[in-house]
Amino acid sequence: MHTFEFGRPADAAAAIATAARAKTAQQGADVRFVAGGTTLVDLMKLNVETPGRLIDINRLPLDKIEATADGGLKIGATVRNSDLANNAVVQRDYSVLSQAILAGASAQLRNMATTAGNLLQRTRCMYFRDTAMACNKREPGSGCPAITGANRMLAVLGTSEQCIATNPSDMCVAMAALEATIHVQGAKGSRAIAFGEFHLLPGSTPERETVLEPGDLITHVTLPAPLAGSKQVYLKLRDRASYEFALASAAVVLTMKGETVTGARVALGGVGTKPWRSHEAETALVGQAADAATFRKAAEAALRDAKPQSENGFKIELAKRCLAYALKTAATA
Ligand SMILES: Cc1cc2nc3c(=O)[nH]c(=O)nc-3n(C[C@H](O)[C@H](O)[C@H](O)COP(=O)(O)OP(=O)(O)OC[C@H]3O[C@@H](n4cnc5c(N)ncnc54)[C@H](O)[C@@H]3O)c2cc1C
Ligand code: SF4
Repeated sequence: MHTFEFGRPADAAAAIATAARAKTAQQGADVRFVAGGTTLVDLMKLNVETPGRLIDINRLPLDKIEATADGGLKIGATVRNSDLANNAVVQRDYSVLSQAILAGASAQLRNMATTAGNLLQRTRCMYFRDTAMACNKREPGSGCPAITGANRMLAVLGTSEQCIATNPSDMCVAMAALEATIHVQGAKGSRAIAFGEFHLLPGSTPERETVLEPGDLITHVTLPAPLAGSKQVYLKLRDRASYEFALASAAVVLTMKGETVTGARVALGGVGTKPWRSHEAETALVGQAADAATFRKAAEAALRDAKPQSENGFKIELAKRCLAYALKTAATA
């Protein structure tokens, strides 16, 4: 059995200092913060993650949802997914976020899962979760059996020759469309990371999934002031109606004047190696009539660079239809 140390610091500074000290003391043994544990404990049971030390952040004062001075919203790192999805301001002004969270997992999981934990959830690629198999993400340089194996659920956008794993989060797709900012505190101080720069493409280093450095603590996420009059939709397509990850999903935030699209923010889930913001779709929408032809053009633009694997080519057309339908639903809401 793999043993680990467990600590429960009183404040964020102590958590970060403990992470830094433990890392030195254990000569590189992995340190992990644990929040809801719905990703981390799962992976520890499978021996996919074997941290030498766990730092429980559940008692840190990071569980508030508050208005910001510029009209936006500050979401604490340990705010539970259920609390975020059911918050009245989120439901009114950022409904795409509420819809996306409620489309994920189950009520029990959402009651435990946290904002920061969701940002950092790992891929569901079956080879990654099975230590008997090779996997470049889990063990760099060991190979990627998914490329010639079971890849039906995996990505068609942002893949590399080293990894084609999908980012499985629903929440992150909405946050990409809402242009969230992630706030981090680390040994070298605090910094703010634009959502689009937080997750990394796999490239030749699929083991590195975000720009976080070891010991960095996510303290909160901010959302900019809501776009006045925006219409927001999250649409998730999956093999069964609940408790299932996306085959394809779309988050759209539209503003319109009459029948013309004046502003668009679009992101896709289930098809990318990271939550996939599509500036190409947005460009195809703005200034155009909100009709079926425009929505199809936007969907074609979003998937233009998609690369199918042996079993997941169907996702390309599925994602196009998903996005076009989400746009139609938003425009006619
Ligand atoms: C059966 C099942 C079905 C699911 N279905 C879906 C689904 O349909 N859609 C979906 O989007 N998700 C789904 N999920 C994933 C779920 O949303 C995530 O497991 C959850 O959001 C993770 O949050 P957590 O707080 O439990 O994270 P944890 O497991 O506590 O942590 C996850 C990672 O984040 C790190 N971490 C946590 N907090 C911080 C912090 N503040 N700073 C730095 N690092 C931190 C941890 O060290 C760990 O590496 C499912 C999960 C399960 C088990
Ligand atoms: S797709 Fe990525 S996570 Fe899956 S086996 Fe290949 S390297 Fe591992």
